[in-house]
Amino acid sequence: MPIYEYWCDSCCRIISSYRHGLSMPPPPCPRCGNNELKRIFSTFSVQKTYKDIYEDILSDRELTQSMIRDDPRAIAEWNRRMSSGEKSPPEYEEITERMERGELPVTQIEEKRKELSG
Ligand SMILES: [Zn+2]
Repeated sequence: MPIYEYWCDSCCRIISSYRHGLSMPPPPCPRCGNNELKRIFSTFSVQKTYKDIYEDILSDRELTQSMIRDDPRAIAEWNRRMSSGEKSPPEYEEITERMERGELPVTQIEEKRKELSG
């Protein structure tokens, strides 16, 4: 059974949980009872492709909005998620490099969003 990891906004901590599958709702936070945990990717979980990771990040409205607000925590979360991928296609490396230079790749995010949405 795969381990999924969740993020509790209230406690600012990661909760690991065994789940039967992604269709299962996230568990409540064992510490504060918050039942709106956000799923994050774990190296223990099923290997995701970069596209999957991207889709997940882009579907996380809070994260993308935080990134647009230049929130370093969101940027760190982005990096963390991206680095959990197996491969590093050139377009993603470029984005990571730009972020390391302190630039927010908002344009690329928007382009990628369009591309992924068809
Ligand atoms: Zn909590």
